[in-house]
Amino acid sequence: MTKYIFITGGVVSSLGKGIIAASLGRLLRARGFSVINQKFDPYINVDPGTMSPFQHGEVFVTDDGAETDLDLGHYERFTDTNLGKYNNVTSGSVYQHVIEKERRGDYLGGTVQVIPHITNEIKSRILGATKQFTPDFQLIEIGGTIGDIESLPFIEAIRQFKSEVGIGNAVSVHCTLIPYLPTSGELKTKPSQHSVSVLRSYGIQPEVLVCRTTRPIPKTEKEKLALFCSVPKEAVIECRDMKSIYEVPLALEDQNMAHVILDMLRVQDRTPDLKAWQKLVENIKNSKNSITVAIAGKYTKLSDAYISVVESLKHAGYANDTKIDIKWINSEECVDYKNCKELMKDVSAVVVPGGFGVRGIEGKLNVIKYARENNVPFLGLCLGMQCAVIEYARNVLGIKDANSKEFDENAPHAVIDLMLEQKNVQGYGGTMRLGAYDCVLKKGSKAHKAYGQDKISERHRHRYEVNNEYIKPLEEAGLVFSGMSPDGMLAEIVELPKLDWFVASQFHPEFKSRPERPHPLFKGLIDAAIKHKK
Ligand code: GLN
Repeated sequence: MTKYIFITGGVVSSLGKGIIAASLGRLLRARGFSVINQKFDPYINVDPGTMSPFQHGEVFVTDDGAETDLDLGHYERFTDTNLGKYNNVTSGSVYQHVIEKERRGDYLGGTVQVIPHITNEIKSRILGATKQFTPDFQLIEIGGTIGDIESLPFIEAIRQFKSEVGIGNAVSVHCTLIPYLPTSGELKTKPSQHSVSVLRSYGIQPEVLVCRTTRPIPKTEKEKLALFCSVPKEAVIECRDMKSIYEVPLALEDQNMAHVILDMLRVQDRTPDLKAWQKLVENIKNSKNSITVAIAGKYTKLSDAYISVVESLKHAGYANDTKIDIKWINSEECVDYKNCKELMKDVSAVVVPGGFGVRGIEGKLNVIKYARENNVPFLGLCLGMQCAVIEYARNVLGIKDANSKEFDENAPHAVIDLMLEQKNVQGYGGTMRLGAYDCVLKKGSKAHKAYGQDKISERHRHRYEVNNEYIKPLEEAGLVFSGMSPDGMLAEIVELPKLDWFVASQFHPEFKSRPERPHPLFKGLIDAAIKHKK
């Protein structure tokens, strides 16, 4: 039977609950247990697909084409497990389902209410995540902060769920903040005590506390927390700010967090195998070299908007004993080519990531032109690939007004066009070409060498594609289409073989990179960047 671990947060948001949930998942996986992570998001959007990256950060795409919260990226990277649409549940999706049932008449004239109908639907979503296979552990993180009005149905559902599965089958982990007051020179436990008492007033007694802190928590304060929050002393876990998120599992392991939880869940502990992870953290801490890699996009003010790209770059760095310093370049500042040159001159590589809309495009085209003309290693992702094709069409093929229909509906030379299947699509939200599709690689290409495979599967999220009418002329002008869909109809990868690394993909490789297994396209970029720096 699956054992359940619920993770809530108190005092403030942005505590890094996702990293804690992912880290605990890693500690259980390291013991040979199977694990599934799930995220509950209390907002009314059906999924984050329609939300601005400025508000919500990256939209993480799964193999089955779900547009999900970026925490799913952490879960996948830490536990090395592919997740899917059942692993992210929003209030919006819960209400949508319940209202659809009501309209169908499924409730037979009954009054449809938050309790029991919404809470029952939430409980069924907990079980729904494990339909395909029964993991040893299911870790469920509830977004938001205890006390928020909108998360109440989720809290009530987990209260019921916990009592239904009984003691020993479910535990609650509450993450809180222990603020430091410089004036008195003290760490303060009171906000955590309050947060736990609010949680208790909803009927949930947490069994474990994870305390986020900037400095070590003295034993006396831990004892105080244990006493006033009714948590065993050994279940008060300190989680200090760390240089790398990948250190967190080891810090939690040092405090026996997984062991304590296994004990509570009446599961015999096993010796964890964390050798590879320890090696990874050693690499991270002791990287001998460093390089600067630019990310040129329009959401650069919020680094969470490109979190999987950043992590993928780091993963490729770890494999090369190299620390990656990210230089954020706001593409709008590159519209002026002089400025662009200035911003680009000290970087060893550049990524032009995905995005939507015309703003900042001319700047991205300048960045790509600079990379192409100066042999700066370049990786284009989705929109970044479309821009690479536009830039090549304009500046090499000589089609001065080459463009994408996304930026100019009446573009006379639309080298990027709306996909046929998208032409009649109405409305936003889950309507793009989403999820994993196969791609066949051209033998002898850079992409083929990097992957070491003829056929790959990668995740997508787009409405536009390279207009096939332009493939031949672009090829004749030297652009190599090194990845195509199996039917040969959709361009997936373009590259310039003469340059050290000029590769761009219609898909999003960043969703499949893992800390211990960097993605081939990012690895290729960083290998070339190290050479470029030298
Ligand atoms: N806006 C482009 C499209 O829809 C690229 C999307 C993306 O970068 N994810 O095709």
